Parts: sequence; structure tokens; C-alpha cells
Amino acid sequence: MSDLRRLLQQKFGFDGFRASQEAVCRAVSAGEDALLVMPTGAGKSLCYQLPGLALRGTTLVISPLLALIDDQVAKLQAKGFRCEQIHSGRSRESSRNACIRYLRGELDFLFIAPERLAVRGFPEMLQKRKPTLIAVDEAHCISQWGHDFRPEYRKLGERLTGLRPAPIIALTATATPVVQEDIVRQLAIPQCRRFIQGFRRTNIAIHAHEVPPSARAEACLDLLKSESPGSGPVNEKLPAIIYATTRKASEELAQALKNRFHAQCYHAGMSPEAREDAQTRFLSGKLDVIVATVAFGMGIDKGDVRTVIHAGMPGTVEGYYQEIGRAGRDGKPSRAMLLHSFADMKTHEFFIERDYPEADILNQIFKTVSRTPAPREKVGRKLGKIDSEVFEKAVEKLWMHGGVLVDPEENMSAGDPGWRKTYEKQRTHRLESLRQVGLFARAPGCRMVFFVNHFGDKADQQGACGICDRCAGATSTSNRSFNTTERTIAALILATLDGGPKSAGKLFEEAAGGNTRRDFEAVLDLLQQAKWLGIEAESFEKDGRTINYRKIELTNFGKSAKAADIAKLQVNAALWIAPSPTQRPVKKRRKAARVSNASSDSGNEHASPGLLEALRTWRLGKARQRGIPAFRIFSDSVLEALAIQRPSSLDELLEVRGFGPKLRDKYGSEILNCLADR
Ligand code: ADP
Ligand code: MG
Repeated sequence: MSDLRRLLQQKFGFDGFRASQEAVCRAVSAGEDALLVMPTGAGKSLCYQLPGLALRGTTLVISPLLALIDDQVAKLQAKGFRCEQIHSGRSRESSRNACIRYLRGELDFLFIAPERLAVRGFPEMLQKRKPTLIAVDEAHCISQWGHDFRPEYRKLGERLTGLRPAPIIALTATATPVVQEDIVRQLAIPQCRRFIQGFRRTNIAIHAHEVPPSARAEACLDLLKSESPGSGPVNEKLPAIIYATTRKASEELAQALKNRFHAQCYHAGMSPEAREDAQTRFLSGKLDVIVATVAFGMGIDKGDVRTVIHAGMPGTVEGYYQEIGRAGRDGKPSRAMLLHSFADMKTHEFFIERDYPEADILNQIFKTVSRTPAPREKVGRKLGKIDSEVFEKAVEKLWMHGGVLVDPEENMSAGDPGWRKTYEKQRTHRLESLRQVGLFARAPGCRMVFFVNHFGDKADQQGACGICDRCAGATSTSNRSFNTTERTIAALILATLDGGPKSAGKLFEEAAGGNTRRDFEAVLDLLQQAKWLGIEAESFEKDGRTINYRKIELTNFGKSAKAADIAKLQVNAALWIAPSPTQRPVKKRRKAARVSNASSDSGNEHASPGLLEALRTWRLGKARQRGIPAFRIFSDSVLEALAIQRPSSLDELLEVRGFGPKLRDKYGSEILNCLADR
């Protein structure tokens, strides 16, 4: 028996390797660098832990997600391994102790955050006794495309060279080929072995339906009810997880389902006890359906989930894959249903535009600051007409990308002009990720093959899954003809495109015939499915920015289509569930800005200056303590909302716009004290 297998049994108590673990462990124990991309739960950790032990030294584990470090360390310690952690959340004392143990060679694993390597003296300390293996976990975070990316991560590769020749293994569950390349570049491991595998799930049938938000509750009911009502309580579609896009939607949806099912909502705005209760009831089989926001599911291990429904478009394909992966862990047939619409895309776009202001706005700020630190308000005043919320976001992003330096008192001075490149990349990437979700929803081919290609699993040659809507759709029988609206729009589209290709936006202006964008997009989809239209993603550069759009043109089929052919077109009923008239109240369209926030219109209320000041003082104290700009604790708009709303309990804090559960858990009681004192 090989050494690795023996270690596997003796130290980890596992009978054998899972698919593909062994090859990775062999390569890494033999000193090769590696990039490992496998889905969550596949068993990636073992792929550095086992080689680490086999190499008989200390493995340095770099993990950008502090929240996960504690958990990992606890698990390893429980298995009897010698393990320590050093990061900003730990005391000086315990960090010093960890260093001493490291230098004495008493550790199997030392966990650190990437920032630690920028602390003076720390890399030098590590160099005194080099690690035998370096593992970078959750490596997608160090990619400059990622949400959590910090410019200092770019120096990671350079900083690690001093610790070589130890092999480096980078691990992640979610990295597209672009991100994979970036990780390899950031870590300077061009020759690494790449293991990108395991993304195919053979027991999940994936369907995507275009369903307007107003019809989603009914669609969920339809999708979950048992086909054979006479056959007793067994429903092979349950238990189910439904992902809703907002807290409010999850509450409403759960309410709508309660008549038929044991259903409950789950979101970050609920008290920890209520969340715990919902989760336990779901895990123990007392609930049929849990209607959750994405807050749900981290580390959930329930094997028999039969259905995962997304009642709205997810923000990224990677996130979506992660979430549907919670179906059918037991290997039995399961389903994933995506209910989406064009309006969802618009909402996501709105939030991206809000969170990532145009680079030109950042640039205005960048040009206003100088080497001499100036208070943030002064910079804001100089700029004048920028909206205060946009200004806040822009400053934060500029700081994250190194364009300005900001001290705890929020004095700003000029940073590195290189900010623009990484920021633009991140922003474009975010928009591109959203476009990918749209492509997924509309893609004509097999859903599972889409995922396999999306993650770049080249070893997977199994082809179409045979069970998704696209694969099985060909045999579907429940079709209907185009209705009048659809026929009118289709005729207009064909006539308009006769003159040549058009962008989706232009085409809508010219060929929608006064119908809604939603109806127009639905017909586009239908015509594309009928292979009458070709739709391609295109982009052009304008003022240094990439503008994405869809180019639409007639196929040869479409060109030869006559009015009579339109009348013969069929809609696959499963792809279009029409909303019932009662569910479409005629009311003014709300702006996307309000979708998830209830309490933003407090325009004519005022906060007492004393309270504002008290909150500011408290915030500054925290910022100094942690050595970060005050806005990183929370933003000015949150501060003002706190002073106006004056929440008096932990639950009420969550009603303050921009105040999330993370903030509540970290600072909730201190803030309540501060508010109560006034
Ligand atoms: P990932 O990091 O890929 O999400 P983990 O490394 O956390 O996954 O592993 C998921 C679970 O699988 C853990 O509970 C781990 O103990 C278990 N596991 C990993 N490898 C094996 C194996 N060879 N045999 C049995 N269980 C394993
Ligand atoms: Mg992991």
C-alpha cells in the first residue's frame, strides 16, 4: 500500500480517495505546483492536508476568508493535528505564540490571511524556517476579477518567492477559465498542474422557465405539487429549497405556499433563533419547503433535497451552480428550476451600476486629491455635484484599488494611478458575469454542458445530459400556438430585421409595436428557439469602456419565413407560464432602486446633531482601533439612517438600510448602547 493511502487511513480515518483526489495528492507530494478547481464538498482540503503531512513539515495555509479559518482550524485540531492561526482578528499574544511554535517546527498547519504577508517582519520570520507546502484556499478571492480582491494581493506571488521552493497549491470551487488564468498569474505558478474537474452532476435535471415575477408563486405551487394526488402523502418533488431574490420575496412566497405545504422562509433579517429553528426543521424533515435568500445553504448537508427552485435570476453562473448543487446530494433523481425574466436582469444591472460607479467618477476624485491629506468632506465639497451615495461608493472603490490612501479619520491623499486598470477590469467582469447568467438562461444547448464548459472542465467528454429541458424538450408534447401579441411582435421583428442586423435595444424601439419590453424579450426568446433568429453578444469600446450589447439577425430560416409560418409557430408550454390576470395589478412601475429597500425615503426627517456626532465618534474609535478608514466600519448613509430611525433592538437594526447581519453581529450591541445613551 502506498504511503499516501496509509496516511489517509491512519490520520484521516478515510477508507479511500474520492475520485481525482489521489492524482492531486501525488502531484503535490512530488513537489509540483497545482491549481485545483472542484465543486464545494468534493474534498479539496484533503488535497493539501494529506500532501502536507506526507512532506513532513509545516504547511502554510493562506485563506482570504477569515470567517472560514476558525472553522478549518477547529476541524484539524479535532483530528489531532497541530494547528495555529494568525490574522487581524487574533490577539498579539496568541499570534506571538503561534510564531514561536512555528519556528520550533511544532506545527503541521499554520493558517494566515494574505494581508499578513505584507506585515513587516512576518515573511522574514517565515523564511527562517520555510514551509514545506503552501496552500492558497478560496483562491478565487485573490483574482483581480473577484469581489474581495485587494491590490496588495497582486504582490502575493512576489512575497511567496521568498518562501519557495515549497510547492504551491491553489484551491477553489468557483473559477472560470479567465479567473483560473489570473490565479496562476497572481501566484506566479505558470507551470502548475491543473485539475479542473467534477462539475457534472448526472442526477439533476435543470430547467429554466421565463416567468414574470408576479406569476412566480403560482409557478412554484405548480412545480411542487404532486402529479398523482390520489397516491397518498408521498411527493417525490419534496423537500425543496426555493431561492428568492429579496427578504420580502422570501416571506411572501413562503406565505403563498403555506396552504399546501409545510413552508417557511429563511433570510438574514430574521433573528438567529428563528433562522436556527427554520433550518433545524428543514434538516429534520419537518418542513417540505424552505424559501430562502442566498444566506441559506452554506455548509448545509441534507442529502435528500429533491427540488431547488430559483424564483428569480441569480447574479452569477458560479453562484447559481453552487446553489443548485444542494439538490440530490444522495445521488437520486432531482430537479433544478430557474424562473427568470428580463426584468431580473435589469434589477441586477441596476445594483451593479450602483455598487460600481463609472471609472470617470472615480477619476474625478482621484484628480481632486493630492499628496497632502485632506478631509473627505473637503474633497466631496470640491467635487460639488456628485450624489453623496455615489461619492461614498466611489471613494471606497478607489481606496480598495489603491487610488487613494485614507486614514481612520478619513483624510484622503493620492495613491497609485494604476487603480483604473484593476477597477475597470473588476467592473467589466462583474457585468460580464451577469451577461453569462442571461446567456445560460437563453442558451439553446444542454444546461449541464454549459456548466462543464463554463468552468473549463476539458476532461469531461460526456456530452449532453439528456435530462435538462433543452435535452428533453424535443420530445415535449405540451405546446401552444403564438397568441396575438406574440404574433404581432414576431411579424414586426421579422420585417425590421429584413434590412439587416440590429442591436436588441434598437430593435425594441422599432419593432415592439408599443408592447412591453418583457413581451418583446419573450418573443425574441421564442424566435431564437425556433432558430429564426441568431442572437450574439457583441461589444464595442467607447471612451475607454466596453459596451456590451446583443446583436440580432435573421437566420436563413427566418429570412424565408412568411406570415403563414408565424401562425404555425409553437410555444413549448413549459417555457412560458402566463400570469393569471388577477396577479397583475395595474400599478405604477416601481423603480429598481426600491426593490430591496423599504426605508430609504426618509427625505424630510432629521437626525439630532448630537446623535450623529456620537455615532461618528464611536465609529472613529473603531476605525482607529482597526487601522482602517471610518467608512469601512459603516458608511455615512448608514450612519444617518441609524440616527433617524433610532433602532432599539438587534432585529430593528436590520431594518436600517445598508445594515446587514454581519454588522449586527459585530457591532450591534455597541451601536444600540450608543443610540440609547442619547
Ligand atoms: P471542499 O473544500 O472541496 O468544499 P472539504 O475538503 O471541506 O470540501 O470536504 C468535504 C467533506 O468531505 C469533509 O467532510 C471531508 O471530511 C469529506 N472527505 C474528503 N475526502 C474524503 C474521503 N476521501 N473520504 C471520505 N470523506 C472525505
Ligand atoms: Mg474548502
